[in-house]
Amino acid sequence: MYLQTILNADLHCHSVVSDGTLTPEQLVERAKANGVELWALTDHDEIGGIARAAAAAQAQGLNYLTGAEISVTFAGETVHIVGLGFDAQNPQLVAGLHQTRSGRELRAREMADGLAKVGIKGSFEGALQFVGNPELISRTHFARFLVESGVCSETHEVFRKYLTEGKPGYVPHRWAALKDAVHWITEARGVAVIAHPARYNFTANEEYALFTEFKNHGGQAVEVVTGSHTAQEAVKYAETAQEFGLAASRGSDFHSPGESRCDLGALPLLPGALSPVWELLAERILRPEPGMR
Ligand code: AMP
Ligand code: MN
Ligand code: MN
Ligand code: MN
Repeated sequence: MYLQTILNADLHCHSVVSDGTLTPEQLVERAKANGVELWALTDHDEIGGIARAAAAAQAQGLNYLTGAEISVTFAGETVHIVGLGFDAQNPQLVAGLHQTRSGRELRAREMADGLAKVGIKGSFEGALQFVGNPELISRTHFARFLVESGVCSETHEVFRKYLTEGKPGYVPHRWAALKDAVHWITEARGVAVIAHPARYNFTANEEYALFTEFKNHGGQAVEVVTGSHTAQEAVKYAETAQEFGLAASRGSDFHSPGESRCDLGALPLLPGALSPVWELLAERILRPEPGMR
């Protein structure tokens, strides 16, 4: 396949293996129906869904890259680093992801304790009802439980009132180090990507440090067009990509038909002046058999 600069690539989304509500197979079907031409499943801190994702992509005739979204702590904030096109068997990557996931259960129990103090009982067990992978309990699952039990009317409201810094269900957490996450990805022959950079509460200096250190550790790309960016933010980070000599990625960050504002494959295309991340990954793409496209 000839890889154009202008491609309906969607390189960021979630399945039931982390905090999405669709299976890897359902995501492939939806991506195909929406005209996606190159796709990656990027579950949080987890690659347990990627064998199914790869098989479904092959069966449906969709170009596919391995992926994950790793939680990192940088300058006291949580930053997400997407890895694409890595070797999923790489032992250091597998161990790093396992280690990153391992604090989630205790964190969730502490979140439930915080919520119980403001009268919301049983939220650990409640959130677990929404979990597809017991190793991957996330704030999103608590949000779904609080919506279902009528505490809030939608998940964004739960985050605003209960699950963000300073709120009763928020528990500060130390995730992976930036250097480690970038190394796990690059040593496994993947490309590391700064996810949705506009979503972090950094000062200009902190953001500069993030991009500088990311690049020094071997990071090669940044999400420019994502479901988490406004059009203005995409313009801003297109400039940042050029300033730092980073390739650009594009991904909806789709989680759920009912919750996500941006559907798979529904984003604007990458601005033409940027180097798309898939140029770096051409050899890592799992391409469907001829006749399956
Ligand atoms: P966690 O990794 O457990 O901290 O959960 C992070 C996830 O929560 C993100 O990947 C989003 O899916 C979700 N999330 C974060 N902030 C919000 C928000 N304001 N509204 C809805 N979902 C959010
Ligand atoms: Mn998520
Ligand atoms: Mn994210
Ligand atoms: Mn995401």
